[in-house]
Parts: sequence; C-alpha cells; structure tokens
Amino acid sequence: MFLSEAWRKARKTHRCWYCGEDIVPGERYHVWNGMTDGQFGTTKTHRECNEAWQSLYRDRILMDDDGLDFGEYWRGTTVRKDDSETRPVAAG
Ligand SMILES: [Zn+2]
Repeated sequence: MFLSEAWRKARKTHRCWYCGEDIVPGERYHVWNGMTDGQFGTTKTHRECNEAWQSLYRDRILMDDDGLDFGEYWRGTTVRKDDSETRPVAAG
C-alpha cells in the first residue's frame, strides 16, 4: 500500500535501499512511505537508483508487488549484484 513519496535533501547520511551505498549530506534523495508485506516501511534511494528501480517495473522485470532486498542492485543500474561482481558502467 502506497502512502506517500517525496524528494528530500539529505542533512545527514542515509542509506540507499536499492544499492546499499551512502546518501551523503547535500544530495537529493527519494523517500517512499508505504506498506509492504503488512509492514510499514520507509525506503530511501538515490535519484538515479529511483529511476533504475522504476525502469524495472516499467520493463516488467519486477511486478508491482515485488520488493527488493536491501542493496540488491548496483547503484543507478538495473544489474543485480548477484549477476555481476563489479559495478557496471552506467549507460548514458
Ligand atoms: Zn542507491
């Protein structure tokens, strides 16, 4: 269940759910609040990770109710860490 989302500017270090890397102070990041699997959660992501995440749904790699494990993907890419041991060079 989706509740709210917002773009914020980091005042302290946060952790990106998508890639597991730090979101450093001064960086803009995306905050999503909602219910998944019956649990209320807040998910924070880098800007480029949010775009990559949305493209996974758009391309039907993930279905609407699919969640991600913490740090499952490389930052700003649609490559799972399980599939590649090194961070791929982002296209574009
Ligand atoms: Zn990230």
